[in-house]
Amino acid sequence: MLKSLKRVTYFVLVGWMFVSCSKEEGVVPKGDNLAMGNPSEAGTDFANYFIEKAQYAMSYNSYRGTPNWVSWHLSSAWLGSAARQDDFRADNSLPTAFHRVTPADYTGSGFDRGHNAPSADRTLTITDNSATFLMSNMIPQAPNNNQQTWANLENYCRKLVSQGNELYIIMGQYGKGGTGSAGYKETLAGGKVTVPNRIWKVIVVLPVGTNDVGRVTSSTRVIAIDTPNSNSINTSWATYRTTVDAIEAKTGYDVLSNVPASIQKVIEASVDNGPTS
Ligand code: MN
Ligand code: MN
Repeated sequence: MLKSLKRVTYFVLVGWMFVSCSKEEGVVPKGDNLAMGNPSEAGTDFANYFIEKAQYAMSYNSYRGTPNWVSWHLSSAWLGSAARQDDFRADNSLPTAFHRVTPADYTGSGFDRGHNAPSADRTLTITDNSATFLMSNMIPQAPNNNQQTWANLENYCRKLVSQGNELYIIMGQYGKGGTGSAGYKETLAGGKVTVPNRIWKVIVVLPVGTNDVGRVTSSTRVIAIDTPNSNSINTSWATYRTTVDAIEAKTGYDVLSNVPASIQKVIEASVDNGPTS
């Protein structure tokens, strides 16, 4: 009796281990938000200040009151059913020497509080979604850029995820002066927030897997766009496709710096011509 009980216990235990292991194999891992590199070698400089949160990593520019760039991983591992929190708020984790941009700094400016890491890319938990609403993740973005061109590309990124891919996305901006719904402006909030002139994004598309940076090859799909921060923008993001090299020339950054130089040389020189929706 005791022997057969032991045997039953043994089989239940082994069976349970088998089931939990095979479950694990189907899980898409969350990648390191900074896996492709730190484009500006951000550190402690107030113009190039490195910030890493669980949900994204960035270089923050305290003089501009915006990030220089934000980098994040997107896969099904980040997506769930958490509702859009809409809790725009100052990032109180910024050094006290910085002006902590508030939602009111954008009020009446004619520019949207434009997410870098989008709300809809972080829906696994309420905490994750809420983190995208910190003002340190925002730029003054022309409404037609944000709500049309940019939204279309963000939606396409999530479509790529639904098709079995995982993405590394780096978004940034440069220059000064944009045209929102209330006309041309160079700064908001009495100069505390700079309105960027151009807004760019680089997307590395990989089939779901592990060791992501090691799987980037010279034929990996890389989408790069560089758009005007203007309300007269074309709604089609594909209009603005460019090379990573061109963005690097404009910004002085080394995007995808963790990818071997010989591979960067190829993937950064070509303009994407893949599907756009
Ligand atoms: Mn947006
Ligand atoms: Mn590069």
